[in-house]
Amino acid sequence: MATLSNAFADLKSTPRMPALFVGHGNPMNAILDNEYSREWRHIGEALPVPKAILVVSAHWMTRGATLVHIGNNPKTIHDFGGFPPELFAQQYAAPGAPDFAQATIDLLEESHAHSDERWGLDHGAWSVLIQMFPKADIPVYQLSLDLSKDLGAHFKLAEELKALREKGVLIIGSGNVVHNLRALSMDGLTPDWSLQFDQYMADAIANKDMGKVLDVAQLGRVTQLAHPTIEHFLPILYPLAVMAEDEKVNFFNESFDLGSISMRSFVLS
Ligand code: ZN
Repeated sequence: MATLSNAFADLKSTPRMPALFVGHGNPMNAILDNEYSREWRHIGEALPVPKAILVVSAHWMTRGATLVHIGNNPKTIHDFGGFPPELFAQQYAAPGAPDFAQATIDLLEESHAHSDERWGLDHGAWSVLIQMFPKADIPVYQLSLDLSKDLGAHFKLAEELKALREKGVLIIGSGNVVHNLRALSMDGLTPDWSLQFDQYMADAIANKDMGKVLDVAQLGRVTQLAHPTIEHFLPILYPLAVMAEDEKVNFFNESFDLGSISMRSFVLS
């Protein structure tokens, strides 16, 4: 590894933090007490306390550059419509993590990232964190998804983040293993393509078969239905890319919400 800047070197070393992928699904999970939010709370209680949390959310998309939010007080972004006032009233007032954000930019020597002072916490981040770490006392920052990059480039970028885990950073990818808002159904029936894509990913992740993960295009129409757009898929790559060889994958929330949304999530530790 090339020489690292002071921002990274100044961070204290810690035992390796777990890493997570969380299927966030419906923004209402932020305030509902249901099977998903209860599991998020249990996970939050069971995890070692991180020094900082880095969230890679489906809802921060950029083009042509990867941004890392640097700020002392990231704002709670209510980036959705058609939900009750109670959800819009939610604030997640965790502090920012400027030192960790700068260290992250420095680490991304090859893939390059730029600092950002305008973002904050979108609902892919705060709707989960408000349940997982309700005290909002752990510094949080986000990294954007550069949609001009292909899957392999995202994976390579994410690999450069590996060392953050030994600095007490909990890396959370927040998206959904299957996400097609046009295919929601209230009758709870899960279409075959949704089951098929979810099972393909479950097998690939359990077997740590990154070739299979990066080659979802081979499923053709199934992948197009599971992800008409790619942003909810990309965050899965981030925890997978920082996985250590000796780590176990533990799935949780392995079910479908609103028929077709896979809530499948996993923790690496
Ligand atoms: Zn989402």
